[in-house]
Amino acid sequence: KSEVASNLLSDLNDKQSECVSAPPTGGLQIIAGPGTGKTKVLVSRVAYLITVHNIDPSNIIVTTFTKKAANEMLERLGSILGNVGVDCSKLLIGTFHSICYRLLRRYGHKIGLGGYTVADESDAALILKDLEHDLSSEEVEQLNKSSKRYLDITKNDAKGTLDSKKLRSHISKLKSDGIDSESYASRDDRNLVLSQIYTKYQEQLKINHLLDFDDCLLHCYHLVQQHPVLNFIEHVLVDEFQDTNDLQLSLVFEFARGNANSTVSCENVTVVGDPDQSIYGFRNARYVNFSKMKQHYEVRNLQDHIKVIALNRNYRSTKDILEISEIIMRQQHNRIQKTLTSSFDHSFSPIYASLNSAIQEARWISLQIQALLSLPDKLIKYQDIAILVRSASQTRCLENEFLRNRVPYIIVKGRAFWTRKEVTSIMDYLKVISTKYSKISYLKTLNYPKRGLGEKTLKNMDSFLESKLAKGERDVPMILQDIANGNNKLLRLPTKASNELSKYLRFLESARDQLDVIDDHYQKGVDITKLLEDFFDFVYSESGLKKEFDGDTNQKQNIEEVKKQLLEFRPQEDSLRMFDGATSNDIAEEHRNFLQEFISSMGLNEQSLDDQNSQSVDGKVSVSTIHGSKGLEWPVVFVPGLSEGILPSKFCIQSDQEDSVEEERRCLYVATTRAKTLLYMSSYIDSHESETHFRSPIEHKSRFIKNISFDAGRVPFENWWTLEKLYQIMNLACPLQSKFDLDAFYSTYEDRLKSLYDKENKFPSSSESRHIPNFEDRGFKSAKLQIE
Ligand code: ATP
Ligand code: MG
Repeated sequence: KSEVASNLLSDLNDKQSECVSAPPTGGLQIIAGPGTGKTKVLVSRVAYLITVHNIDPSNIIVTTFTKKAANEMLERLGSILGNVGVDCSKLLIGTFHSICYRLLRRYGHKIGLGGYTVADESDAALILKDLEHDLSSEEVEQLNKSSKRYLDITKNDAKGTLDSKKLRSHISKLKSDGIDSESYASRDDRNLVLSQIYTKYQEQLKINHLLDFDDCLLHCYHLVQQHPVLNFIEHVLVDEFQDTNDLQLSLVFEFARGNANSTVSCENVTVVGDPDQSIYGFRNARYVNFSKMKQHYEVRNLQDHIKVIALNRNYRSTKDILEISEIIMRQQHNRIQKTLTSSFDHSFSPIYASLNSAIQEARWISLQIQALLSLPDKLIKYQDIAILVRSASQTRCLENEFLRNRVPYIIVKGRAFWTRKEVTSIMDYLKVISTKYSKISYLKTLNYPKRGLGEKTLKNMDSFLESKLAKGERDVPMILQDIANGNNKLLRLPTKASNELSKYLRFLESARDQLDVIDDHYQKGVDITKLLEDFFDFVYSESGLKKEFDGDTNQKQNIEEVKKQLLEFRPQEDSLRMFDGATSNDIAEEHRNFLQEFISSMGLNEQSLDDQNSQSVDGKVSVSTIHGSKGLEWPVVFVPGLSEGILPSKFCIQSDQEDSVEEERRCLYVATTRAKTLLYMSSYIDSHESETHFRSPIEHKSRFIKNISFDAGRVPFENWWTLEKLYQIMNLACPLQSKFDLDAFYSTYEDRLKSLYDKENKFPSSSESRHIPNFEDRGFKSAKLQIE
């Protein structure tokens, strides 16, 4: 173990070592720019706590921003600690939402929450829409009045109609600030109508046995506050701390409280983050939680127990990439300026191109990729390349172009995938099969695809179900069966409709039977892949969805993707071992079905903007949203769409709020700092926009790069010199790959390179080439960066 510990430190620079070996008690904040090794330090600190301070892995909580990041951390820890017999699977690691969900699943019954599923955004939106319909005209008027004055919950249209999305995020914000509807109402008379909606929204969730994402955190907070279920936790570590909200901060302290050292009551918490990379706009929370955390110690006179360390050596990117990122950020208001030093001697200027349309932009990117791939020795492979977009809609043109040119790619699935019609439809069916308690799921699927139930019938059924559930009945299919059988005097259906309803219920019943067999087999450890496949196919065709979507290749592919996710999904077994203190009663309470686990897990991933792809990224270009790229890195990064209206987005330009523009700037900063070696940027003129502004061409170049003048962009395959430079950098940037052998490179490619890359016939002799020249001498200037 001591060897592991010394290896850990020898891998790091002095400042990083200081972070890792800092005393385990108290608070530690590591505030540093991108690529400075924050995540690396966090992982090493976990390993150090385990090996040097003998903390058991099951007594440590680590929160990450995505599931992927959690998996990567586990993998790294496994490789560090596996040899010394430490079982890392006992670590409690994941996103806040997934950790909270796992805790609730196990202990929720202690606070009266059993059999709940996670509500996704579409469930939440549906509930709110319903509630809006029920508002009287006076209420709407009142809401609009207060909305206009001080709440931003109406659409930007002339009528000022209610915007359910904004309403939803307003309620979400209240919840994450720990404000319930009563206290919200008591703050201000003008909040009255909204607080009523808030109350009803909560009621609806409850009736449907749903927890929305905020509830997951909130209930978990109450759970750990009221019950000592986590009192064995000794250390909590948080990655991407700049994007935590109030509630998450409280959770961190609550998680860490159990083991607060008895002599000095002091939580052991390590957080790492970068205020410049805050892109989730929690009330400009860039620095807020760093200072709140400090205060938390200071108010109890524990200021000696909180330490802040900064790192400033960047190990990811070349000098030019850091320079341009810095120029972009320097214009940010209220920023603590910082300087990052690159670890690379050589560097390429970022390349910028201005195109005439989105299609041309995609074509340009595709050409650049093909050129990169044609470099000798497979110097750059498809998986070295990422395209980072501001909005998922930008991927359409790229996809078309990549398909045409046979560029293998993978769209890292973000929220957008889970909101596509075909995907939500099949998920709705899976949901309705997994639970008998959610009225919403029934109403969503009852008449989609159409089963000949009229609008009015559906409405009647809705209110009927509503009244039954309000009286405490739970089993929705039983109530529906009663209606179908004609046993109900209050609600009679025409024969055709009741036949259809019976058929629908029979279909669900038989799907549930299959599910029971799956659960049974799964518990016995029998392989269930084939059963799952049959089950999925059965649901897809019998629901009638197959008829709707199979005609469209794209939709069919997306359905296939969901199927694949299901086939490869296995519930997290780790939680069974995780909580040592759990009683058999707790474990029994936890029993839920396979499908419910799948749905909740997908919902949680959606929330953390995680990629859902089980596919390997090997041999493929990654296309991802910038939000989904946090914490990751690639040798080559493209950032397209650097146009006004895309980055910054149209929405944020219209809202004209400085805060949101600044957040877009940080978004771009996150994107450019993902690049290790080559950074390509591009913009295009939206033809639609320019038509309407025909007489006065609109400024299309994004304000964030407007003042930066790029030189012509020296592409690395332009000539021999640049290619050689690229070899040098890639050797450093990709230490895990086998090093490229320069000598062999020269002898093998001399002739080819001469003709291919050096039109001016300046190919140097081999001996000269051993001496790597300073590229500035050869006339390769960096992009000139100017600020007004
Ligand atoms: P971000 O803010 O983007 O999340 P980060 O600060 O978390 O960045 P890491 O992802 O931990 O940075 O590290 C960036 C890269 O630098 C990784 O490839 C990592 O392996 C490498 N790195 C970090 N520290 C060192 C070091 N001391 N020696 C060599 N490589 C290092
Ligand atoms: Mg990181």
